[in-house]
Amino acid sequence: MFERTKYFIIDMDGTLYLGDTLIPGADECLRRIEESGRDYFFFSNNSSNSIDLCCARLANVGVPVPREKVMLSSYVAALTVKRDYPGKRVYLLGNGNLYDVFREMDVPLAQEDADIVMLGFDKDLTYERIRKACRMIANGAVFMATHPDVNCPTPDGYIPDTGAMIEMFAASTGKYPQVLGKPMKATVDYLTQTLSCSRDELAFVGDRLETDIRVGTDHGVPAVLVLTGVTDEETVRQSSIRPDLILPSLRDLADYL
Ligand SMILES: [Mg+2]
Repeated sequence: MFERTKYFIIDMDGTLYLGDTLIPGADECLRRIEESGRDYFFFSNNSSNSIDLCCARLANVGVPVPREKVMLSSYVAALTVKRDYPGKRVYLLGNGNLYDVFREMDVPLAQEDADIVMLGFDKDLTYERIRKACRMIANGAVFMATHPDVNCPTPDGYIPDTGAMIEMFAASTGKYPQVLGKPMKATVDYLTQTLSCSRDELAFVGDRLETDIRVGTDHGVPAVLVLTGVTDEETVRQSSIRPDLILPSLRDLADYL
């Protein structure tokens, strides 16, 4: 099934590592991918992350990689705005890392009367900023969000993520955003553009059905579910999302290369 695959797009938390621990054999699998003449990249939906933070996290579990190997929904968001709304000004709801990405990508930002409201994983969201964003959306600004995840896993349990904030904005304005990140088409387009490849040269690997797997099954890209993270076999049985391959862990992918 990976005959045409050039690039494996691998999720991090729950797929490559759990907390601060590498999933056993994951590093061996990455080596096998390279030995088979293919390459891999890591993609995170978490738009409060920075590439440097991800690289530090990866190095900490014993997988030191160059910055180019890490991709974030923040870049999908900035690139989508630049391509579809060139020159339009963005009111950004996110942390310093998300602002850094938009500045790096030369996307014009505005605090008043923006053309676009971009909602990211903003852990410092204040009522004043919610109010301003809702006014802009109600007045016709394009509403977009970096990723759809409703919850984010932490050592203390789940915390509300961007998908939960989307519901709050939708409740007030009656409008839902164009969502980017996994499982949306914008992410597949970002990957084929950035890696100069076609869809059938990609394969996704991850632990979450609604994002890591659906991004593949919705767009004709092979999707591999690993059972080391948030999804167990019973959840797969009950879901309408059908992974192309289900493996106990990333290590087992090596057998298919
Ligand atoms: Mg994950």
